[in-house]
Amino acid sequence: MPFPLRPSLRSLFAVCSLLFSNAAAMAGSSIRVNLADGFELPVGQGTGEGYYVFRGFTPNAHMGEDWNGRGGGNTDKGDPVYSTANGVVVYSAVYGRSWGNLVIVRHAYREGREIKVVDSLYGHLDARSVRLYQLIKRGQKVGTIGTAHGIYNAHLHFEIRKNIQIGPHQRNFARDYSNYFSPRPFIAQLRELQAGNSVLVPVDTFAGQGGEIAGADSKRPGIPTRGDSFAALAKGEEAARKKRKEDLDKLVEENRRRAAAMREEDMDSFWERVRKKMKKQR
Ligand SMILES: [Zn+2]
Repeated sequence: MPFPLRPSLRSLFAVCSLLFSNAAAMAGSSIRVNLADGFELPVGQGTGEGYYVFRGFTPNAHMGEDWNGRGGGNTDKGDPVYSTANGVVVYSAVYGRSWGNLVIVRHAYREGREIKVVDSLYGHLDARSVRLYQLIKRGQKVGTIGTAHGIYNAHLHFEIRKNIQIGPHQRNFARDYSNYFSPRPFIAQLRELQAGNSVLVPVDTFAGQGGEIAGADSKRPGIPTRGDSFAALAKGEEAARKKRKEDLDKLVEENRRRAAAMREEDMDSFWERVRKKMKKQR
């Protein structure tokens, strides 16, 4: 229904709705991390020594590198896997049958005048030694080489991702250089970087598959199939999003109704109350 609002009042409503929707968008959080002072290989104490890549990065086929111990077979099972750079853990959980124990670390680094953010991924781990949101340093152990519950000969699947929204569920993202780096050339180029500063990086960016399940990792719920756990998470997230939107719409509509019914002299105190309420919400 139309409201006979004066222009000034209408613009106030616009600001009001904008502030509310910003508050909702700010629900996503960020964490301060130290800039990477360089990137290194995830095995062989940063050098890769004693290991080799038996399957490399191939667009539309294999989005990372498979690192194997020179001893062959499962001789590398239980060997330490190290973080490629300083960063924050944005995922640490069992995911699906084929990822097994999975860790994803987010890194910020300086390239010229720009700050860039990438994720490194460590798959099929035998054990994880970091938890969600933990700040870690280059060369810090994130877990050990594993077999993804006996599916593979022990090896590390290692990825570097330029798109930080991919998460464990890669299917909906282009499998090429638009979303991924080829790990070894990437690391070779960024071995040594200017360190010192810290920056805020976003976390909880894996819509429908991130944070919350990783936080529940102590439960170790057997080996869910990838499809099942993703569907359940997506459903929960969708319901929460719908509820947030409904609450927001209700609040805005209620304010609109009350303002329309009010006399001129009540306006100042009304907007004062709205402002206070908004401050509380944020
Ligand atoms: Zn692989």
